Amino acid sequence: MKKLYIVGIGPGAENMMTMEARCVLEAADVICGYTVYVDLIKKQYPDKEFFTTPMRRELERCRMALTSANDDKTTAMVCSGDAGIYGMAGPILEMQEQFPEVDVEIVPGITAAISGAAILGAPLMNDFCVISLSDQLTPWDVIERRLRAAAAGDFAICLYNPMSRKRPDHLAQAARILLEQMNPLTVCGWVRNIGREDTEKKLLTLEELMEEKVDMFTTVFIGNSHTRNLFGRMVTGRGYEI
Ligand code: SAH
Repeated sequence: MKKLYIVGIGPGAENMMTMEARCVLEAADVICGYTVYVDLIKKQYPDKEFFTTPMRRELERCRMALTSANDDKTTAMVCSGDAGIYGMAGPILEMQEQFPEVDVEIVPGITAAISGAAILGAPLMNDFCVISLSDQLTPWDVIERRLRAAAAGDFAICLYNPMSRKRPDHLAQAARILLEQMNPLTVCGWVRNIGREDTEKKLLTLEELMEEKVDMFTTVFIGNSHTRNLFGRMVTGRGYEI
């Protein structure tokens, strides 16, 4: 059968990949992905064929993966974290009608919201939402609307793509929008390079987040009105009286 697996490999550390993902990669003839992620796993799979494309060449990468599977090579397309969260699962399924013989299977991975939350404490203990600050594929006014709605709903918020060199002020703008409705002392945190050697984290307030400089390897967490800083851990109340 012509088979394409879309595999979430987790945040980076080998032991944070699921057993299922590992088995699929071991069984694949070809591994495709963004150069940086493929480099993370390349040395574990020395005898595979690798196809990589740099950032922003996503559709080309999806087409390459589907073509490889269509050529009867069992293919795995890897994505960081989970492939269904700002990953390649959606675009591949949208493109699949051009490759009707290819059977596509999605293998879940630990997304940055989950691995980052575990490092900070328990910030996503109650209802939460995930918002990407990248306006490459989503207009900025839509992102602003979602931020305001999240604040109005008192959701804990996890921000992906908080900043890039081209967009240095998106995090500050997001914090300013949240401050229209939220307490400036709301507990926030960020985690950088989850699952890599040099993981860093920090807790701070929403007001302080306005001035904070983070990069694209960082995931940012904003508490709800029940989130506290408990001895350096970010903890959102579950609702129990303790
Ligand atoms: N599919 C990925 C998300 C890709 S979007 C997932 O499920 O995790 C890219 C954004 O994800 C980054 O800008 C950052 O906010 C977050 N991210 C991905 N990997 C990360 C890591 N190892 N450490 C911190 N943040 C990460």
